[in-house]
Amino acid sequence: MSENEKLVQSNFIRDIIDEHNRNGHFENRVHTRFPPEPNGYLHIGHAKSICLNYGIARDYKGKFNLRFDDTNPVKEEVEYVESIIEDVKWLGADFEDRILFASDYFDQMYEYAVQLVEKGVAYVDGQTPEQIREQRGTPNEPGKNSPHRERSIEENLDLFTRMKNGEFKDGEYVLRAKIDMSSPNINLRDPIMYRILHADHHRTGDKWCIYPMYDWAHGLEDSIEGITHSICTLEFENHRPLYDWYLDQLGVYHPQQIEFARFNLTYTVMSKRKLLSLVSDGHVNGWNDPRMPTISAFRRRGYTPESLWAFTDKIGVAKRENTTDVALLEYSIREDLNKKANRVMAVLNPVKLVLTNYPEGQEEEFEAVNNPEDENAGKRKIKFTRELYIEQDDFQEVPHKKFFRLQPGGEVRLRYACIIKCEEVIKDEAGNIIELRCTFDPETKSGSGIPQRKVKGTIHWVSAKYAIDSEVRLYDRLFNDENPDGKKDGTNYLDYLNPNSLEVITNAKLEPSLASAAVGEKFQFERLGYFCVDQDSEKGRLVFNRTVTLRDSWSKIQK
Ligand code: ATP
Ligand code: MG
Repeated sequence: MSENEKLVQSNFIRDIIDEHNRNGHFENRVHTRFPPEPNGYLHIGHAKSICLNYGIARDYKGKFNLRFDDTNPVKEEVEYVESIIEDVKWLGADFEDRILFASDYFDQMYEYAVQLVEKGVAYVDGQTPEQIREQRGTPNEPGKNSPHRERSIEENLDLFTRMKNGEFKDGEYVLRAKIDMSSPNINLRDPIMYRILHADHHRTGDKWCIYPMYDWAHGLEDSIEGITHSICTLEFENHRPLYDWYLDQLGVYHPQQIEFARFNLTYTVMSKRKLLSLVSDGHVNGWNDPRMPTISAFRRRGYTPESLWAFTDKIGVAKRENTTDVALLEYSIREDLNKKANRVMAVLNPVKLVLTNYPEGQEEEFEAVNNPEDENAGKRKIKFTRELYIEQDDFQEVPHKKFFRLQPGGEVRLRYACIIKCEEVIKDEAGNIIELRCTFDPETKSGSGIPQRKVKGTIHWVSAKYAIDSEVRLYDRLFNDENPDGKKDGTNYLDYLNPNSLEVITNAKLEPSLASAAVGEKFQFERLGYFCVDQDSEKGRLVFNRTVTLRDSWSKIQK
């Protein structure tokens, strides 16, 4: 093992691979794959699978394939294929030139099926799907043999060829493996290998009207590609005997299937079907709406690949189903952005503040550190003028006894600038505060070299003259229940949608250095959180997404 590998946390999958490598199984090769079905955008559960599979290939100096499991023509779309490629690349999982498609193996799969028919271990069944289902039995009760089970090989070959040639309607015939209708494992009770489906496929068009079932196809795909370790989620554990049976019957190269527990996250749903319903029923604005648990949504919201990697490494690989607290994911992005994101000042809910003893027309610049966590991030100058904006809730007219920010007659430090004192509160006729009249203390200017006196509160601000206007989108959890899915009381996930998951601020005031920020660029707005420039930004009108707050305010609210 190299030094590099030792740094990686071990897990039971790596233990199996180490064992294989010790005894020379797979000739010490490691080749993994990520096999998405292109019927939706990838979610954070897929990210877990990608990091797991690619992480193994990387650490064992092996290979990693991106393979589309496109065996079901009905729900699959090119849009999904493109988004998946983009997401896997963005995560940095390097599949080199290997973007592969199960549909490219349809000819080979058909050949293999013919071999099993010729061997007498596959047959064509002409019963209805209902009849086949009824004969399946239950876990406690054996199934019944199909009346077509003993068809001759010649007849099976003839019917299977005609199935392929399009002579029959959907559902008229299926090809089944002849295994054991009384097996305690229901998956081995003569499973269906091919069904007739007169549907156009996104890659093969109308070439095929029979399509392979998942269990039949998946092991063949792995085998054809020379995959060594075929890692999948636990629900396939009972399918492994079938995976093995097909490959053994064919006598072809045989990868090892390994199962691990599906990853779940609090406050969200993860199945593609449910995510699709959120999109198509308009509960969110598309697959990459920053409230969605999709990879593209996290990217748009301001998450980095590094934060997702750190997160998936932290949660590890389990054999038992469990649910991870979304707070851990938020922790990972805070950790990463704390190191990377430059600090800036932005006021989301502005109130005007006038420094009555600061000469009109005068202005000066104060120096600010871009990132105290990164020496190379440098410094910048911030314009200071007589009129400023501060956050409405940094002022309380009748202050709470623990409130140390601005209040009538009270002092506060303006970050990077000087100490000010509130002298007068101006209101409109309705009693809303429209302006705070303050004085500043010239002795307290930052960088003046004069010993500084201390005040309890420091607040952020922007110059009213130089501020740029912006839209800021604040996101909260999409669901207001920790586990919106799988309730036993008859409610479903849609009953737990958080009506306040999106708050749009249209008149935020930003420091002028942000004018040149590019889509995707990330910042810490001091005291407020991490923010990222959204793709909806236009020239002169930036839109920011709040990636995450600075602290975990949610857990405090819960308490
Ligand atoms: P969903 O149930 O969300 O539709 P899926 O399993 O049908 O997901 P696929 O496109 O078949 O989606 O999944 C591709 C790969 O990602 C599979 O290997 C699958 O095991 C893995 N995967 C999917 N969801 C998760 C998850 N929540 N945790 C870990 N791996 C996952
Ligand atoms: Mg699937």
